[in-house]
Amino acid sequence: MRVFCLVLFLALLAGCARGPQIDTRYSAVGQNSRVQYIILHYTSADLARSLRLLTEGEVSSHYLIGDAPPTIYRLVDENRRAWHVGDSQWRGRTWLNASTIGIELVNQGYYEGPNGRYWQPFAPAQIEALIVLLQDLMRRHDLAPGSILGHSDVAPQRKVDPGPLFPWRRLAEAGLVPWPDAQAVARQQALFAASLPSVAWFQAQLALQGYDVPRHGELDEATRNVLAAFQMKYRPARYDGEADAETAALLLLLNSPD
Ligand SMILES: [Zn+2]
Repeated sequence: MRVFCLVLFLALLAGCARGPQIDTRYSAVGQNSRVQYIILHYTSADLARSLRLLTEGEVSSHYLIGDAPPTIYRLVDENRRAWHVGDSQWRGRTWLNASTIGIELVNQGYYEGPNGRYWQPFAPAQIEALIVLLQDLMRRHDLAPGSILGHSDVAPQRKVDPGPLFPWRRLAEAGLVPWPDAQAVARQQALFAASLPSVAWFQAQLALQGYDVPRHGELDEATRNVLAAFQMKYRPARYDGEADAETAALLLLLNSPD
């Protein structure tokens, strides 16, 4: 009896240690990546502090890119959730930590100077490293054009990173971000200057881009914040949140590229 119990005990122990036996010979055709978007941030800190903040606390990101040298650190496995974006929305999807890859860039962001806000430029080598990473991520996760967003796009009421000096245009030149043709924008801008669309039209176009924006037809602060987020990306020379003819032209051409 004692021997029988011992054998039974050892058998159970072996079963537990081994875990479930899974046959992986078959794989479904119907599947895709959990990743829908890539969200870009700056850390508002130097490398040492950024590493500490993103590895020891409540916030994290999948990747961190240094400024000099532009080392790419992977802090969270792509298959796991990093805590980088929190309360957020894009194209009706909310709380985007679950469906995004977060990339933090070492950059101080801005400080308030005597002549207004001073923004720290991004190191060109850091942007080139980012582009190589983005090209790889877009390919591996089979992401559509328009999948790369700023934190300010998905949380325009509380975030401004990666800020107006982030070179979205350089990403467009690398084929990563849709960009409207400058001549077409100028032509359309002249038409809109003669007859500016309503605020409700701007709100509808911003919603079509993917922004979470009010739809009541009034240019309130929430709408201005969304307009400013869009302008920081596509017209960083002026991101005052005004509903102007150039912004209207950019929106129309991005939403109906042909
Ligand atoms: Zn951020």
